[in-house]
Amino acid sequence: MDTSIAYDVVLLPDTDRAVAYRKRAADSGCSLMGVTVAAFGAWVRDLWELYGDGRTFVSRLEREALLRAACEGPAEGCCVDPKSGKRAQLDGASGRCVLAEAGDVRDGSGRCESAEGRIADDGVASAGAGETGALGLDRVAAACVAAGVGLPAFDAAVRDARQGVPVGAGALEGMTCAEVPVLRMIGGYLDRLAQLELIEPGQALALLPELLPQRPLRVLLEDAAPLTPGQEAFFSACPWMGVEVRAASGSQGPVRAPEGVRVRFAFPSGQYAWPALLADIVRDALGTVADRGAVPAAAAGPAAGDDGASSCEDAFGDADGCRVGRSAGTQAAAVVVAAKDPAVLFGRVAPALVRQGHVVALRGRRRFADTAFGRAICSLRRFLDEGQAGGVSHIEGYGDIAPTDVERWDRVDLADWALSPFSGMTRKAAFKLDADMRADRTARRSDLCARLRGDNPMFAAMERLALQLDVQAAAELEAAVRRMTNRSEAWRAEQLAALRALQRAADAAKLAGLGADAAFDQVQRLKVNVSRIVAPRGCDGAAFGAPDVLVTDQNTAASLGSGSCEVCVVADLTSGAYPAADPEDASRVLLEHLGVKRADSALARMRRVFFALEHAATDQLILERCLNDSSADPTYPCVVLEEFVDCYRDDPTATEDIDNPYSLPERLQDGMLLRGEDALCSNDALSDVPAPETARIEPPLTGAVSAEARSLVVLPRVLQGGQVLDEPCLSPSQIESYLECPYKWFAQRRLRLDDLDEGFGPLEMGDFAHNALHSFYKHMSEDLSEAKVTPQLLPQARKLMADVLARHKALQPHLRQSENRLIPTSQVEHRELAELERKLMDYLDFEAELLPTFAPKYLEYDVACGGVVDYAGHKLLGTADRIDVDGEGRCAIIDYKGSISGSYALGVREEGRLGKVQALIYAQVVRRTLGLEPVGALYVCYGRRKMISGAYDGRVIENAHLPNMRHKDCMCADRPFSDVLDETEEAVAAALERMLAGDIRPRPETPEACKWCPVSSCPERRG
Ligand code: SF4
Repeated sequence: MDTSIAYDVVLLPDTDRAVAYRKRAADSGCSLMGVTVAAFGAWVRDLWELYGDGRTFVSRLEREALLRAACEGPAEGCCVDPKSGKRAQLDGASGRCVLAEAGDVRDGSGRCESAEGRIADDGVASAGAGETGALGLDRVAAACVAAGVGLPAFDAAVRDARQGVPVGAGALEGMTCAEVPVLRMIGGYLDRLAQLELIEPGQALALLPELLPQRPLRVLLEDAAPLTPGQEAFFSACPWMGVEVRAASGSQGPVRAPEGVRVRFAFPSGQYAWPALLADIVRDALGTVADRGAVPAAAAGPAAGDDGASSCEDAFGDADGCRVGRSAGTQAAAVVVAAKDPAVLFGRVAPALVRQGHVVALRGRRRFADTAFGRAICSLRRFLDEGQAGGVSHIEGYGDIAPTDVERWDRVDLADWALSPFSGMTRKAAFKLDADMRADRTARRSDLCARLRGDNPMFAAMERLALQLDVQAAAELEAAVRRMTNRSEAWRAEQLAALRALQRAADAAKLAGLGADAAFDQVQRLKVNVSRIVAPRGCDGAAFGAPDVLVTDQNTAASLGSGSCEVCVVADLTSGAYPAADPEDASRVLLEHLGVKRADSALARMRRVFFALEHAATDQLILERCLNDSSADPTYPCVVLEEFVDCYRDDPTATEDIDNPYSLPERLQDGMLLRGEDALCSNDALSDVPAPETARIEPPLTGAVSAEARSLVVLPRVLQGGQVLDEPCLSPSQIESYLECPYKWFAQRRLRLDDLDEGFGPLEMGDFAHNALHSFYKHMSEDLSEAKVTPQLLPQARKLMADVLARHKALQPHLRQSENRLIPTSQVEHRELAELERKLMDYLDFEAELLPTFAPKYLEYDVACGGVVDYAGHKLLGTADRIDVDGEGRCAIIDYKGSISGSYALGVREEGRLGKVQALIYAQVVRRTLGLEPVGALYVCYGRRKMISGAYDGRVIENAHLPNMRHKDCMCADRPFSDVLDETEEAVAAALERMLAGDIRPRPETPEACKWCPVSSCPERRG
């Protein structure tokens, strides 16, 4: 390294490499006195500060915000084609950019959700996806500005576009109608920059040659990527500079690994095996290194629990795990792991490695939305954002549906915020807030906000920041983060970095006159630096000169320099993680039309990085590719991995030698590292060492209640008047549920595996219908002095029903949640409620034909009259929906149903099943208590298809009096109806014995029982 002698300025491709260059110089004793070592961009910025006209460089965020504001400008704004009056716009559906009528613009931002990107002829352009996904017109323009401004051809085209030169003439030759408005918009943006006293780096680069002192300057571009057109133009305009370019190696493709470096390949079979195999590799590598004496192995102590993202103060293991680390030397770490997402990998492997006494470091970047602060503020903003879930959707059978207020926000978002460290709430309070919200369909966003605002200062600050980008709120939150001393310093630094990223995006949005939407859109595309070291407990990780393991990204690992580690593990080498193709986006096509070619390509960049990684290791190069992705689809090697493998093949055009799952020739399969996904526990624990047994837990007993708990199978009941009944006491519906499936009964009725959310389903609809029908008949007798609906009474009955339904609907919000109130919150639910009302109204016609010789006498009748009655050898209570009685002292039990299946008919007994028994149980009890003679136990369906099922005495009730019934399945004509009731009681008695003996084995009477059963993991599930 002879820079102290040869050069005044050394320029590196980025800051990381500049820092690494300085470190290497210091380590090798080379003086850099008087030598400027910087990234090219930073150097130009410094020159501009010294010799420029006082304007400040515009930041990327400011550029994007100002261009977005230009896109969102008025209909007659810059991005409108004056000739056609159409506006340049990226079309989300087709991915193409079009000159659309102003009124056709899909959203004001001109942004799109498209996936490709090329501005096309005839005023049509296609939008493109960059690495972050959708490109909008603003981002197309931003990319053009970053690459083109300052170049004569680009500047001339912008000028001509502003001056109205026709498309295809002057500097606009080769441009399309859709591109010219984009250039005009860029011209407007550059004017705005000048007003704000800002300048594009490209403009500065073009101006600097005139402003710089013309004295000799020796400039070295070290490790250089191909020069951009702007850089070329700059150096050509500065002939007094002696410029030497040392191109980064590897642009032509990988070469074989250096002599003495062992190459190995690692193939975890899937995502479960991936971290375990990488941990294995690192452990083995550290063991090998330690054997050679480079790293003294630590005595490992047991590790403390960790979230895998601890800082340098976070400690794992016992104090006796402490050891002396290496001082900072030429090596970055003994083992360097270059991963696509280093923060995720670090989180998975660091705790296990630290437990074994190693110091592990992370240097990487995390998406803003993946930081704790980012997640919390984004969740809260989604919750607060008024406009969420906008738009009308067409739903078959319901027509056009617009979201209601309740649908515009999601309870989950507030719960996510509440459970974050930025809510200032305890976990218990957060879970309670969640449970309260879920249990109340009437919860309103404004009420929740008012409640939280009142007693939670963190909410108030985050709300102001999320909605108004309030500077004071940001300061309050920064202070709050600094006070979180129970968190590691690295964690706090990460959150502060995220907070500042949001502030930068907010400042840029404010500069451009945009609102919080724009700031959040931008910040979600940002990444923040994350860096931390974790060491065994008692060791100060920060005091170690270099960690044993550095987990980082490919670029950072490549910048460490040749021979910087003993073992380099290059992970995630799949084509999905590292696609080699340059995105074909609209900006690229526009620049090409102006003759501005890209100097570099994604493939060339990948090759340079891979070359540097190959040479980073002195001992081993381990290349890892997960064989299957998270969807269990096979992965394919990335291009550079294929090229690297080809270096070792005699004939790269042949296919037979690499026709195997690893795509490797046999000679490279030596020492291959494999791991399957079958060993779930050891994969999860990241270790093959069996975990010490700390406790033995017997598998829970299923299908039976233990002898000790048997007395609790049925809990004591509190009767009306406060009397506690210790004897087992059941309702007909419980008995029916047990007969349907004992385990389902246990889960639903005894364990009460109910949802936390207040529902809007069959239970609530059923209760509403029952209450309405009860109220209807009550008013029939009170207001109309009639007990039964007859064809003649239908007009009055309908009027009465309408009145009843209106009153019941109004009553619902005033009921308690435990009363299964029916609260519609969306348009779909409102329509479902209207449909239910229609069904109940239509039911009156059916009712007028039903049992004309009987009349409703007992409504919602408590068969035990406040106490209990005897049935099947046990106590019973319950309420029959309706009992109709005729003049002869005969009765029919009516049970209302919203729908009816085949199991309701008496005929199922021929199949050896008992079927539904509720109405039969009531009939037997009524026979004893009221002295009536039951002749029917009927299930009457008020649903869309009005029908009846159950059992009836065919010798007493005429078939014509039971319309829409399969009489042959329900009629009992060959024996007394009372026999059916006795036989039912006997069967129920036997079932109750089993229940009280603790028999709760899953035994569905029909596959239908399993349909809505909450026991999701039941081995007996059918259907
Ligand atoms: S899934 Fe079926 S068998 Fe299992 S408990 Fe539920 S109803 Fe019974």
